[in-house]
Amino acid sequence: MQKDIDNNEELEVSTQPNSSSSFISKEMLHNTKSQLQNIEILKFITYLPELLKPSIDQTIYHKIEEVVFDLMKSPEKLDEDSMINKLVNITNERVDLDRLTLKSKSEDTKKFISLLLKEYEKSLIVSNNSNEKIENIKDDLASLEISEHSNREMKLLHAKLSDVIYDLQTNLSDSKKELARGKDECHKLDKNIKKLQKDLEKLKVEKDIDFLTGVLNRRGYTSVVLKVENRYITFNSDYAIIFIDIDNFKEINDEYGHDCGDVVLKTFSTILKKMMRDEDVICRYGGEEFVTLINYTKEDEVFKYIKRVKEIVDSHKFIYNEKTKIKVNFSAGVSFRSKYNSYEDAIKYADILLYKAKHEGRNKIIFDDSKTLS
Ligand code: GH3
Ligand code: MG
Ligand code: MG
Repeated sequence: MQKDIDNNEELEVSTQPNSSSSFISKEMLHNTKSQLQNIEILKFITYLPELLKPSIDQTIYHKIEEVVFDLMKSPEKLDEDSMINKLVNITNERVDLDRLTLKSKSEDTKKFISLLLKEYEKSLIVSNNSNEKIENIKDDLASLEISEHSNREMKLLHAKLSDVIYDLQTNLSDSKKELARGKDECHKLDKNIKKLQKDLEKLKVEKDIDFLTGVLNRRGYTSVVLKVENRYITFNSDYAIIFIDIDNFKEINDEYGHDCGDVVLKTFSTILKKMMRDEDVICRYGGEEFVTLINYTKEDEVFKYIKRVKEIVDSHKFIYNEKTKIKVNFSAGVSFRSKYNSYEDAIKYADILLYKAKHEGRNKIIFDDSKTLS
């Protein structure tokens, strides 16, 4: 039933179904009303904004506004084909825009859900109660009623989700088995790696040790010297270098055989080692040559060390094959690191002193402060 408009107040209320139509001013209406004979047309025009109002995308609103303004000014245009076309076009455009907006929103939702699914898949594989979890998702999905009016995109999404859950359920047990096998493999590999690391460590140590005497070889000695030097430079830890060479060792070999020579080398290095402290260093420098690095606070400690070694060697015969007894002598040169600019200078001088001891008849120890032991 249509109402008559007989006062301005009533018209004003009826033209404002919501704020979207508030642009039709009272003044305009008044002017329009005074110009028009047919009040029903006017009423239709006032309702136009409400009829054309966009439901989702609002960007088209200004176009609707323009048409309504135009019609307010000249309502007779409503009779023109061009105006009717304009209204139809605006309506179509409005619907298209809404569809487009809805589609892009669905696309975003799809992207978001697929991301969530990936994360969920990962957590399902490592979870202990994944089967139960999947059943829950299936139930949730089944009870999720997609509205009749929901757009096609949403329905497709729902179907896709169901498929993904189905795939997940079928592949999950395989994935779990694969994972368990992977874990076993990792465990075995880890064990192997640890064993290899141990072997490597052993090999590294073996590479640094002289296989005959069990003391450091030249290779091992080189890296230990760096540490000793570092202690000397950083903490002033004094040490002496003793260059030792067994006298006439070739004769021992020649007289008792090479194996006997080996035993003498072993016994000799054991004496050198036994007399020193743990922090001291011993190295088989060459065939029957040894170098010891003796830490000290008083130089006398170095003197006492090598004197003790000499006393033991001098007062004993080396035993080979339980019955062969061999007399062994040695010569040595001793330098105190603090008297030289570098380790290299110090060891060079110890070597010179050893050569001097040999030259002076062997079985002699010469210190760089001219002290001797013979
Ligand atoms: P010098 O008093 O001048 O030092 O005389 P030397 O005989 O001790 O020295 P020389 O350099 O003439 O001979 C050293 C010998 O040591 C020669 C070499 O065959 C022997 N030799 C080197 N390494 C080993 C080893 O591992 N075992 C044995 N048994 N002999 C070795
Ligand atoms: Mg020798
Ligand atoms: Mg020699």
